[in-house]
Amino acid sequence: MRHIFKIAFLFFLVSESAFCQQAADHIRVLASPEYHGRGYYRNGDRKAAEYIKKQFKNYGLLPVSGSYFQPFTFPVNTFPGKMKVVAGKKLLSPGRDFIVSPSCPTIKGKFDLVYLNAINQVFENNTLSNKFLVIDKSVFPDSLSAQIDSIIKSPPSCKGLIILEPKKLTWSVSGKVNERAIIRILTVAWPKETAIITLNIENKLINEYHSQNVLGMIPGTTNKDSFIVFTAHYDHLGRMGKNALFAGANDNASGTAMILELAKFYAQPENRPAKSLLFIAFAGEEAGLIGSKYYTQSPPLPLSNIRFLLNLDLMGNGEEGMMVVNGEIHPAEFALLEKINNDRQLLPVIGKRGKAANSDHYWFSEKGVPAFFFYTTGGSKAYHDVDDLPGVIRLTEFEDVQTLIKVFVQETGQ
Ligand SMILES: [Zn+2]
Repeated sequence: MRHIFKIAFLFFLVSESAFCQQAADHIRVLASPEYHGRGYYRNGDRKAAEYIKKQFKNYGLLPVSGSYFQPFTFPVNTFPGKMKVVAGKKLLSPGRDFIVSPSCPTIKGKFDLVYLNAINQVFENNTLSNKFLVIDKSVFPDSLSAQIDSIIKSPPSCKGLIILEPKKLTWSVSGKVNERAIIRILTVAWPKETAIITLNIENKLINEYHSQNVLGMIPGTTNKDSFIVFTAHYDHLGRMGKNALFAGANDNASGTAMILELAKFYAQPENRPAKSLLFIAFAGEEAGLIGSKYYTQSPPLPLSNIRFLLNLDLMGNGEEGMMVVNGEIHPAEFALLEKINNDRQLLPVIGKRGKAANSDHYWFSEKGVPAFFFYTTGGSKAYHDVDDLPGVIRLTEFEDVQTLIKVFVQETGQ
């Protein structure tokens, strides 16, 4: 018995991994160093857009209004050059030991440090001029975190801030440059009582960064004017200097891979549904939901023709199930998801939330388009950091989410 069970289990593992192989390949490509974190370093996002377009074309998806690309521009602060931080005599590793604030300016030099000892500490005139103020979060209890945040937001007059983070470093993208540098350093990487910091950080603000959403369409067999829309953002954070790569395997090479898989499936003649399908890979999500905002402001197809939109972000895990943003706003559709999930024994649990401006479904919801945002939960804790790599996501529920989507599409009325 044990032996048979083992063989069956092995077969299950092999067949499941074979099933996800293509998705895993897409993720490996999109999260590879050559794509530079699909952000603002050597046109990493453009490379990813070309890759997605190529797949759409190969599958036989049609362009929308004559193009697979919907171009737009936005401001973004980038870090293509120097990224050096030396604490005392210790050279810190970018991405691993420290991150700079996304709106960090260029800064070069050696600076004295002053430590914040008390929440209400008063600094006399000029005590901090040309110095960095060090805020060690582990010195202050959690109950003071709101006060600490407000000091970080509007600090006393100083050259910049060093924030010692006890837990993890979480990076993002900004479209502006601040006057002061803020550098977040992991507490474990900080040599105790360091009195001096040496910096060589270069930023480059690009006021009109050219990017593009990628679109592909499959016309319905009978009901061409009614659309189901699948969306996923393909951009991530890019690089912080030459060496720190934010690969974004889970966020959101995984969701991009899922819409590619769905596109491939539905493009086959036997799978084409009655309704039309539109696939959108958005750019600029991490910079503030910019690609989806642009799309909803200049939609190439009427938004009122969208029967339902499914936005997929963070599809790499699922050990704890999946969350449905807007689940509380569309109870009938959420009930359908739950029924499919229970009937077919797919994900361990599907949770629901109300509205949230946390991914690309948001602007559509605001314009009255019925939309869900799915994200998987559990598994790796890597998020907006250098550990979000293809090797740490297991695609645990990747197949199940796809099955859920396919049945949902089938059963969603005209
Ligand atoms: Zn994301």
